[in-house]
Amino acid sequence: MSRSWKIKSIFLLVVIAIMTVAGLQFYKHRHYMMTFVAGPGVTKVAKLSDYCESLKGTIADTNVFFLEGKEEGAKVLFIANTHSNEPSAILSALIFLENAIVDKGTLIIIPQFNNSGGRNTRPGDGYPLYFEIPTDWGSKKFRIGNREASPLDQWPDPDVYIHYPDKQLLSFLDVRNTNRTWPGRPNGPLMEQVTYGAMQIMREEKVDIALDVHGAETMFPVTNCIVAPEKAIRIATMTSLTVKAREGFENHVEPSPSGFRGLSHREIGDYSDTLPFLLEAPLPFLDQPTGPKTVALLLDGKDPFLLSLSKKKKLFVPYDETGWPMKKRVGQHCSVTLEIIHQFSRKFPDRAIKIRNVPRYAEVVKNGVGHYFHNPKKVDKADIYYN
Ligand SMILES: [Zn+2]
Repeated sequence: MSRSWKIKSIFLLVVIAIMTVAGLQFYKHRHYMMTFVAGPGVTKVAKLSDYCESLKGTIADTNVFFLEGKEEGAKVLFIANTHSNEPSAILSALIFLENAIVDKGTLIIIPQFNNSGGRNTRPGDGYPLYFEIPTDWGSKKFRIGNREASPLDQWPDPDVYIHYPDKQLLSFLDVRNTNRTWPGRPNGPLMEQVTYGAMQIMREEKVDIALDVHGAETMFPVTNCIVAPEKAIRIATMTSLTVKAREGFENHVEPSPSGFRGLSHREIGDYSDTLPFLLEAPLPFLDQPTGPKTVALLLDGKDPFLLSLSKKKKLFVPYDETGWPMKKRVGQHCSVTLEIIHQFSRKFPDRAIKIRNVPRYAEVVKNGVGHYFHNPKKVDKADIYYN
């Protein structure tokens, strides 16, 4: 064998070895199942495909949990992991799922909304594949997903995504982004089917309030806020003022723009009777000018580059050496959710919703997020679900 063939062969073997190691890691990540414990409030578990049949048997199908009160009242839909790289959403959803007791009305929870996106990653940005939350009994492991669904599940991408039904031209990537594919359609691209399934839940179950829970960059103005369209903005404003006065954290209101299509806070309100709210908590991990995208950065939000940018007033949230820990973000989501429900119930007392046993901001900050998760080894096997 000539010298050049030897070098080529060695090079090829090294490439195959790297591809095998990486491929195995991506395969395991894609197939890793997160464990959800259905708490005492759960009365029924459905699938998104029960509302959009074409999702049956696809990776985009996902669990939908119902917590129905004994008394009739309004219905709330809590959607988490529209973007699976914004995990304060799923952690908040699981606090509600594992602990909430609904006395009046119904709470519907989708903890892993874009299930394909939850099995995708962003190797170019050096994303870790998993993170763990310490609990009172060990640690609970989660996948870190991506903003978009995996191209393995929805491909090829168009040159430009033409939003349905508005026909607005959006980025090609947004065809896999379940916060651009609302209101969706049953025979559209897979992610339009996912948002259509959620729209059908809202229409068929007559949902009053929809919460789409996210995290956003600290350098992006639409962060640490509640986004709401005209018909929901009074409740959003009362919520923002109340949590600031009573619980001491900022959470301003952003009006949902009517000219920017495909977003949950716009299309849900326009295509159903439901009042939509999109919740954003600050997420330093998503900011561009940070150090490496580590699990520590995801969980504690501490970054020296953001700290210096904060001193130059380049951030849209207060920021110091303490970063922006997960417990603060999750605590905010819990309190804002409970307060939106409270404000709705004040406005429509005949359709009030009563939920108890869910911690508010101060309690989550004091006890940590993991304190509210139950040990799957200690609960009835029938109460365990995988996503
Ligand atoms: Zn998001």
